[in-house]
Amino acid sequence: MKFKDFGFDARLQEGIESTGYENATPIQEQVIPQILAGKDIIAAAQTGTGKTAAFLLPVINMLLTSHQEEHHINALIIVPTRELAIQIAQNMEGLSYFTGLSSMAVFGGGDGIVFSNEKKALSHGADVVICTPGRMIAHLQMGYVKLDGLKYLILDEADRMLDMGFNDDIMKIISYLPKKRQTLCFSATMPSAMRSLAHKILDHPVEINVALSKPPEKIIQEAFVVYDAQKIGLVKYLLKSKDFKSVIVFCSTKDNVKQLSRDLKRANFSIEEIHSDLDQETRERVLRRFKNKELKVLVATDILSRGIDIEDIDLVINYDVPHDGEDYVHRIGRTARAETDGIAYTLINEKEQKKFGDIEQLLGKTITKGNVPEQFGPTPIYNPLLKPKFTGKKRFNTKNIKR
Ligand code: AMP
Repeated sequence: MKFKDFGFDARLQEGIESTGYENATPIQEQVIPQILAGKDIIAAAQTGTGKTAAFLLPVINMLLTSHQEEHHINALIIVPTRELAIQIAQNMEGLSYFTGLSSMAVFGGGDGIVFSNEKKALSHGADVVICTPGRMIAHLQMGYVKLDGLKYLILDEADRMLDMGFNDDIMKIISYLPKKRQTLCFSATMPSAMRSLAHKILDHPVEINVALSKPPEKIIQEAFVVYDAQKIGLVKYLLKSKDFKSVIVFCSTKDNVKQLSRDLKRANFSIEEIHSDLDQETRERVLRRFKNKELKVLVATDILSRGIDIEDIDLVINYDVPHDGEDYVHRIGRTARAETDGIAYTLINEKEQKKFGDIEQLLGKTITKGNVPEQFGPTPIYNPLLKPKFTGKKRFNTKNIKR
C-alpha cells in the first residue's frame, strides 16, 4: 500500500516523501487506519518493522487536522532508553518537517543546564514529547508540565520498560493524564505483566500482531560489502563459483533487472529477466523455462519474491538490499525449500548499509560478511550505524527539536 492512499495532510505527505518512504510496511498498513479511527492499540512489533512511523504518522496527521491547545503537550511518547528517545525524535523531525509541529526529547543524564532547558521547553509546551519515565517524573513533580490537554499517549518497547522496572513510573505518569485520551502500546513480546498493564491503561484495544517469519535455519546466508560499481562483476563471479543449477537474482528496480540481465547475457550466462514491464504471456513463458531448468538464472524484481513455488533453487542473490526484513525473508525463502539446502548472498553498497543493519536487527543476528576476492580491489568498511546521505528535497535542521 502506498502512503498516498492514507490520504494524509499534504504537509505530512511532503515529509514522508522527503524521508524516502513510498510503501507502508505490514505493521503500518495494519496499525495506521486503526489509529486514525481513534482506536486504542496494543501491537506486537519488533524494531525494524517500521513501528515508529506506524504511530508517528497517524498522530502527526491527527494533530494537524484537529484543534490543539497552545502551551500544552498534545502527545506523549514514553520509551525505555535515551537512545530510543533520540531515534524517535529524529524520525519525528524528518516526518513533521513541513508541518510546523514542535517536538522535543526529554531523557535522563546531562547536567543542570540541560534540565533547566527541558524545564523551559516543557513549560512552554510542545505538540509531541518523547521521554524516558524517570526524567519525566522529575519534571512532573515540579508542577510546570501541562498534561491536562493531552490527547495521545504512546508506550514504545513497553515490555522492555517493564523489564527495567518502570511499571510504577509509568502508572505515575499516567495519573497526570486525562482519562479521555487515545493510548497506543507497542511491545516486541506479550508477557503476562504486559497484558495486565495493557488492561489497566487501554480502552477496548485493537490487538495487532505482525510476526516476522524467520528464514529457515538451513539457508546459508552471506553478505558482501562492496561499491556499487563492483556489484555486476561480483554477481558474475558468484554465479561461476560453484556449479549452481538454478539461481534467482533479485533487484529492487526494473532498471537494475534490465541492466544486469543485459550484462549477464553478454557474458553468455543462461539467463532471462522477469518484471512487470513484460506482458503476462512472456512472464509465464520465462517462468516455465526456469521451472523446467531450461534456464539457469532468472533476474527478477520482487514480483517473484512471494508465494511462487519453484523447487530446487540452490542460490538466491540479492543484487540490491531488499526494502525491509519481510522482503528479505521472502526473497531468500525461495531457496532451501522442503528438503533442499540453499545459499543466499546479499550485495551491500555504501548507501544500503543502514538498511541491511536494520534487517540484521530484525532477524536478531549478524549475517556473515564474505571476503570479496582481491581482483575486485578495495571495498568499503561495513558500518551500518552511519546514516546514509540524505537525498530528499531539503536538508533537515533541528528547528523542531527543542533541546
Ligand atoms: P523502526 O521499526 O521504526 O525502528 O524502523 C526501522 C527502519 O525502517 C527505520 O530506519 C525507518 O526509517 C525505516 N522505515 C520505516 N517505515 C518505512 C517505510 N514505510 N519505508 C521505508 N523505510 C521505512
